[in-house]
Amino acid sequence: MVEIIVCFKHVVDESELKVDRANNKINFEGAKTKISDDDKNAIEEAVRLKEKNGGTVIGLCLGKADARKSVKEALAMGCDKARLLSDPAFQDGDAIRTAYVLSQAIKRIGKYDIIITATGTTDVYSGIVGPALAEFLEIPQATFVSKVALAGDKVTLDRLMEEGVETVECDLPLLIAVAREINQPRFPTLIQIMSAGKKEVVEWKASDLGIEASTVGKNGSLVQVTSTQVPKSARKKILFEGSASESSERLADALLKEGVVN
Ligand SMILES: Cc1cc2nc3c(=O)[nH]c(=O)nc-3n(C[C@H](O)[C@H](O)[C@H](O)COP(=O)(O)OP(=O)(O)OC[C@H]3O[C@@H](n4cnc5c(N)ncnc54)[C@H](O)[C@@H]3O)c2cc1C
Repeated sequence: MVEIIVCFKHVVDESELKVDRANNKINFEGAKTKISDDDKNAIEEAVRLKEKNGGTVIGLCLGKADARKSVKEALAMGCDKARLLSDPAFQDGDAIRTAYVLSQAIKRIGKYDIIITATGTTDVYSGIVGPALAEFLEIPQATFVSKVALAGDKVTLDRLMEEGVETVECDLPLLIAVAREINQPRFPTLIQIMSAGKKEVVEWKASDLGIEASTVGKNGSLVQVTSTQVPKSARKKILFEGSASESSERLADALLKEGVVN
């Protein structure tokens, strides 16, 4: 039997974002939302470990009320129950504050063997929340995990490294941050989507987690986002005239000079 808590973030679907060229800002208006892509791999891995070893999977999400949509999807994918951490006090916090709030929720849940996150989210991708969460919980952690094998109270992991794959062994409890290569997330069936509505979802505020509002969100954050801008991409609009071989040679020279190719 294995007790798993899997963390997932409710994000804006980046393919839906529009750029307001007038002031170079991202227009979020009307954009659809989703579970962050690699968090679906995290949920899938949690459910596979439960199917193989027995036990339960609790889904954990920090987000605004609209995150209920992603909570429902995580339950349809196979989480047994979910906790939504939703409080205006949590909003606009930095990654360390996010990890702190998640850690307080996990301490309230109590019993767990494995915490699963993804390595990074599709919107911000600081890659900080997983390792910071392990620090707050004072448990070992492994990132870029591409394979998990559980045997009793020991787990063997493959980690994707630049030079190849590293295999490590660790005692429970631990936190693993998975890479998207670890699995192919399932598409829930209609029955699973229907039964998700009957599964337990509890919403917690700062006061439910013994958290002082002033220590989280924008107020409690060390890193403040002061603005978000779309990088300007100025086209040079250079026309290469002459025969095909002449103009392609000049193009190649220009690309070399720009350092676009080497
Ligand atoms: C409107 C807005 C304002 C912001 N303002 C600031 C600011 O002022 N300063 C600042 O530093 N940052 C700010 N942020 C960014 C915010 O800190 C991060 O979005 C958040 O902390 C998560 O960090 P990340 O996406 O980089 O997570 P990563 O470290 O990339 O995520 C790794 C993994 O952690 C888990 N995880 C991450 N977030 C959550 C979550 N919410 N719920 C459950 N699991 C999660 C997931 O498994 C994820 O795959 C803002 C974000 C928004 C949307």
